[in-house]
Amino acid sequence: MKGGYRICERVYAVGGEGITGSGDCCIYLVDCGDGLLLIDSGLGMGVERMMEVIRSLGFDPPSIRMLILTHSHIDHIGGAKRIKDLTNCEVVAHELDLQVIEHGGARTGAGLYGVRYDPVKVDRVIEGETERIELGDLEIDCIHTPGHTPGSISVLVEVEKQRVLFGQDIHGPFAPEWGSDITIWRESMEKLLGLGADILCEGHFGVFRGKDEVRRYIEGYLDYYS
Ligand SMILES: [Zn+2]
Ligand SMILES: [Zn+2]
Repeated sequence: MKGGYRICERVYAVGGEGITGSGDCCIYLVDCGDGLLLIDSGLGMGVERMMEVIRSLGFDPPSIRMLILTHSHIDHIGGAKRIKDLTNCEVVAHELDLQVIEHGGARTGAGLYGVRYDPVKVDRVIEGETERIELGDLEIDCIHTPGHTPGSISVLVEVEKQRVLFGQDIHGPFAPEWGSDITIWRESMEKLLGLGADILCEGHFGVFRGKDEVRRYIEGYLDYYS
């Protein structure tokens, strides 16, 4: 397997297919100056490997201060409990996915992966449309983008004048048993298009660079599901 890699100033890929395991979503690390931020946690089996990847990039895993869970699917939340136990980080998620993240159940999709979900306590609950979190010298916007699940969030961080968007499961899919709503998802995608991001870090398909490419990627899925 290849290692993690730098995406742009202070942003790294530290997990996902080819890095920690094919069942994992793409996992991203942001160096906030005073502490590290993780976006999503993967399925769970790759956590130890991810810690090695983080060390190989020159960071110290106990410096992980915050873990943002973009939504309640097992490939994004499965490693959260283990990471919290290892680092004592603060776990952040939206209130509409809270029940699933803290208690598990069919909405995690764990059955599809044939794994057991180890629930995690959420320390900071996002309730509004957008919530700004300050960590180190960065401002992290958690934006409610429901559709794939009711409590899906996207994360926007401006680093060195580049707007980096962690859109995670922009590509869907949608299922009634997850509480998906494609009409609301379209509104969420319009919200993301309005952000004018320079870099998009997606949940399974990697990194898209440049405002035009980011726009094309999101619009491509709006066309696909129209
Ligand atoms: Zn998902
Ligand atoms: Zn996913």
